Amino acid sequence: MGYKKASFIENMAEKIGLIPDLHKEGYQEHDSDMRHFSDEEVAEMYENFPPPEKWNNWIEYDPKAWPKKKKTNYQIVPTTCFNCESACGLTAFIDKSSGEIKKFEGNPYHPGSRGRNCAKGPATINQVTDPDRILFPLKRKGKRGEGDWERISWDEALDTIADRIRKALKEDRHNEIAYHVGRPGHEGFMNWVLPSWGIDGHNSHTNICSSGARFGYNLWYGYDRPSPDHAEAKFILLISAHLESGHYFNPHAQRIIEGKMKGAKLATMDPRLSNTASMSDYWLPSYPGTEAAVLLAMALIILQQKLYNRSYLENWTNWQEYLEAKHPEKEVSFDNYIESMIEEYKEFTPEFAEKESGVKAEMIREIAVKIGEAGERFASHNWRSAGASNLGGWAVARCLHFLTVLTGAVGAKGGTSPNSWNKFKPEVPNPPKPQKKWNELHFPKEYPLAFFEMSQLLPHFLKEGRGKMDVYFSRVFNPVWTYPDGFTWMEMFMDESKFGLHTALTPTWNETAFFADLVLPMGLAPERHDINSYATHGGTWVAFRQPVLREAARRNGKPVKYTYEANPGEVWEEDEFWIELSWRIDPDGSMGIRKHFESPKRPGKKITIEEYYQYIFERIKGLPAAAKKEGISEFEYMSKYGAFEIEKGESYKMNENLLSKEQLKGSEVDKKNDVIRKNGKDIGVMINGEAMVGFPTPSRKNEFYSQTMVDWNWPEYSTPTYIKSHIHNDVLDKSKGEYVLVPTFRLPTLIHTRSGNAKWLVEISNRNPIWMHPEDAEKWNFKTGDLVKMNTDIGYFIDKVWVTQSMKPGVVACSHHIGRWRREQDTVGNRWATNTVDIENKEGGKWKMRTKRGIKPFESSDKDSKRIFWKDGGVHQNITHAVHPDPISGMHTWHQRVRIEKPGPDDQYGDIFVDTDKSHEIFKEWMSMTRPAPGPGGLRRPLWFKRAFKPDESTYYIKDKK
Ligand code: SF4
Repeated sequence: MGYKKASFIENMAEKIGLIPDLHKEGYQEHDSDMRHFSDEEVAEMYENFPPPEKWNNWIEYDPKAWPKKKKTNYQIVPTTCFNCESACGLTAFIDKSSGEIKKFEGNPYHPGSRGRNCAKGPATINQVTDPDRILFPLKRKGKRGEGDWERISWDEALDTIADRIRKALKEDRHNEIAYHVGRPGHEGFMNWVLPSWGIDGHNSHTNICSSGARFGYNLWYGYDRPSPDHAEAKFILLISAHLESGHYFNPHAQRIIEGKMKGAKLATMDPRLSNTASMSDYWLPSYPGTEAAVLLAMALIILQQKLYNRSYLENWTNWQEYLEAKHPEKEVSFDNYIESMIEEYKEFTPEFAEKESGVKAEMIREIAVKIGEAGERFASHNWRSAGASNLGGWAVARCLHFLTVLTGAVGAKGGTSPNSWNKFKPEVPNPPKPQKKWNELHFPKEYPLAFFEMSQLLPHFLKEGRGKMDVYFSRVFNPVWTYPDGFTWMEMFMDESKFGLHTALTPTWNETAFFADLVLPMGLAPERHDINSYATHGGTWVAFRQPVLREAARRNGKPVKYTYEANPGEVWEEDEFWIELSWRIDPDGSMGIRKHFESPKRPGKKITIEEYYQYIFERIKGLPAAAKKEGISEFEYMSKYGAFEIEKGESYKMNENLLSKEQLKGSEVDKKNDVIRKNGKDIGVMINGEAMVGFPTPSRKNEFYSQTMVDWNWPEYSTPTYIKSHIHNDVLDKSKGEYVLVPTFRLPTLIHTRSGNAKWLVEISNRNPIWMHPEDAEKWNFKTGDLVKMNTDIGYFIDKVWVTQSMKPGVVACSHHIGRWRREQDTVGNRWATNTVDIENKEGGKWKMRTKRGIKPFESSDKDSKRIFWKDGGVHQNITHAVHPDPISGMHTWHQRVRIEKPGPDDQYGDIFVDTDKSHEIFKEWMSMTRPAPGPGGLRRPLWFKRAFKPDESTYYIKDKK
């Protein structure tokens, strides 16, 4: 960045006036010219973020006016990013003269992101100024899906929905109301709203995302997610590309690098040479679905070489239960435990793992020893990837956690903690009791252990007549595009007897909103309130997403009553929307709903946003004192800084927390397993004579042996196991051109279907070719750019080939996110990223899609829209995938068995064909693999298992005899 001599091209450009002459005599008088500063000085400037006391009056030179020195006076307001789940801190720079947001930078006061962002954070400004965004509430005209819309008022929208919900509740049709969410982005809000209505109405995207890994972790220790302490680790093992695109991407990435800079070694298991793998010390290019075999081979080495943490295993695993159940002939001794484990995993030699996975046995040995040597400082992560892609994918997280247990790294500094230990849980005002309903459209009997709602099967359940959705909300949720089998979703959305009133709550158009009845514009990151708290490291924080123009108005003495008064158009936010809607469902309070949404301080009055958040904030440990020090309320403190650090990294080994005398009063210890019980509930466990909290499992320990799996008809999986995937090499017929397609990987610059409205991001990434190794390309005679026909179980898509050494031979891959579309009749939206397509459904169940036009420049309020140079919008692959629900975890298993062939003369780039009759048959095939409830005692689900929006315990028992 220091001063550089002009190049020949620069000189020429200056001379002919293409660019200002930066090298003329006297030019150096512009002392804002950064070329006067050394690289070190520039680095220091970037570290010196404006101090909060100047946030209401911050002067910067306008970079667009350069080389003139034009000052802009900004008001800086913090919020959080909403482009992925990390919720990194952002600060909005609001031009005080125009009142417009001009840019976003990081927020150094956010303990998770520490001032840093990925490309998607600053690109929030593109989303705010996107000329295609939805600005007013809309109601469909004509038939659903025809693309005709009219503007309505918020009052009309609210009354329409409230009347329909009230009627359904009064007629005891609670299970016909559902809220289906893609990216939640808020903590606790809907847990307040939906149970207040008395419905089991939450449906999520989790079964196409992380529920496989969650299930694997939960079986071990009752927590469903890991919180790796990367910065303090000695060895880090990542299943897939967490450094560049993982869960809690930027916060984790910076800490992985911090760990590496302190000497940690990094290993990545991924069939692609991703950016993460290329930054690693070890790349393990495993064949998809064989990860568990590699992990078990490592476990065996750690056991054989006595690299395990003996005291941790002795105290914190349920080894006695294991020996009694699986080896009753043996004496219950710790040595027999180790011996039995070695015997159990003896087939998992590094050579066997190499045969399965293709990862060299020597590398497996070396890494196993390094993990053993790292001991408690072994951090690891599996989120989606292998856990979300394979039949039995949940076993990968279970085998990975096995290594964490063997090394004693569970909850240790530099190890891997349960996510909940590093996450804040809000207390809300007037909390409702758990609902007394169980919705079998979300948690059907066939999947008693499913870790989240079987949302990917909803259209099939509706198709076979299991029920209907009379009032359905899709929120930041786009199943027609993001889910497998989107045409079946489309068929059901178009049928008004299946989906009654469909309301899409969304900031921008998407393929699902085209099939809604009401499209209600909801705020982007800087236009809404939410609280966020995520397990980004060994500490706990809470952040406040807020509508920055509303906050600026408040600071400037011009407060507004509702957020849409400060936002562009009539863009609202969900929080106020749900409060308003709840009042309208129960206007006189007779249904018992309204009371939950009344002010905690002004009896009988509607709660305001400030009151809701103030109630939560004043209950956060340490926040009242911090606010008091500045002479402001807790709400004002969070509005000012945007985040608060609750705890700075003392939450290690929380399973060892001692139970107090008060807690122990009236409790008793189970002589068989030392579990401490009080009032029929387990509260802790005796460890070496001390009463400790333990883990929320039946044994209060890490469960190497799971009696739950035995009780629920899966005895073959009572201990960590390798399950052969549905795309295992054995089931592929290579002679017919069958390959495994990895369709899941994320690009660091995009996020699902939420970034098609960000021009900078789409400019960087706009195609999704098929990654193919040169060996495979040669076999098929493919060159980069050639068309390829990818045949799935239910249809095909035509894409282009990218020949690259970064792909494991024998495996092909296609990135997620790209291939967005709209039809001719649809309102324009996301034009930076969408192809215009034609969709045909001439024969029942047979769907064809053809790209009519790619992306092209357009006239708009944004001059850049005329400068679009890319034409290719990619191909929509997910819609050609059938549903493949894992019979245990319920997770959709994303990897596809595909048959590769050369396209025929009529095939064109972007062509898609799907047979939805076939997809329904495949749905039935996978359903037949389940082992349905009831389980022990007539239960529909183990009581100790987590469940989103957990209903009243009485609903857990199946009452009908069918
Ligand atoms: S990682 Fe990037 S997209 Fe995700 S919250 Fe942070 S800045 Fe936003």
